[in-house]
Amino acid sequence: MVFAHDVEMALQAATVLANSALEPVTIRSPAELATWFEDFSYTGRHDEDDDELAAVLDLRGELRELLTASRDEAVVLVNRMLAEEGALPQLVRHDAFDYHLHAITSDAPLRARIRVETAMAMVDVIRADEMSRLGVCSDDDCEGVVLDLSRNRSRRFCSTACGNRNAVAAYRSRQRG
Ligand SMILES: [Zn+2]
Ligand SMILES: [Zn+2]
Repeated sequence: MVFAHDVEMALQAATVLANSALEPVTIRSPAELATWFEDFSYTGRHDEDDDELAAVLDLRGELRELLTASRDEAVVLVNRMLAEEGALPQLVRHDAFDYHLHAITSDAPLRARIRVETAMAMVDVIRADEMSRLGVCSDDDCEGVVLDLSRNRSRRFCSTACGNRNAVAAYRSRQRG
């Protein structure tokens, strides 16, 4: 593990959410957002309605900007997100999770909690000087965000589909060569 479990979960959640704006679009309904919520162990308020969905999907541009920013740019974005949401770090223990930081109350709207959770996770990335764990997909035609949490930093593509497509292309060009 590169970062603490809850940090990695928040980074993965933000990456999947940011990439859900690209084809194939993966989050289009409250039910699909609910699946994302469960997959990444989000807890607390979850309205499961169209207003919540629209507010969350509207965040994707900001998340993408943050996840692909330089270290100094990311600092500006993180500080702004935490200030705008009135973040106040508190240690909490709930469900199966031992003490960890929450910086916003669990009854705040999901959009606000995603902003704070992602910003708090990026605090760890920035402090550890690990921004190189984040980047853009190596596929020439893909703008997907890549989050590389592998030990040997081997991840270059945003998805299995992009990885496979490029493996096939590389194989074909070797065959021709
Ligand atoms: Zn928690
Ligand atoms: Zn890709």
